[in-house]
Amino acid sequence: MNFEMYCPNMNHSRTNASIRFCPSCGKAVSTNVQTKCDDQKHALRRRDRDLFCVDCGLSLRKL
Ligand SMILES: [Zn+2]
Ligand SMILES: [Zn+2]
Repeated sequence: MNFEMYCPNMNHSRTNASIRFCPSCGKAVSTNVQTKCDDQKHALRRRDRDLFCVDCGLSLRKL
């Protein structure tokens, strides 16, 4: 697999990833996952130092 930027997140190499977007680079990991998120989840993930929402790919740094 090829990615524009090197991303150390191991979800990229997983075939059964349980997240839709990578929390480190925001690229799509699995399109099979259907999840919902809201601002509350975004706030929690920002606290966990995720850079992107794993559900919608939103950048959490700007908020
Ligand atoms: Zn990534
Ligand atoms: Zn989200």
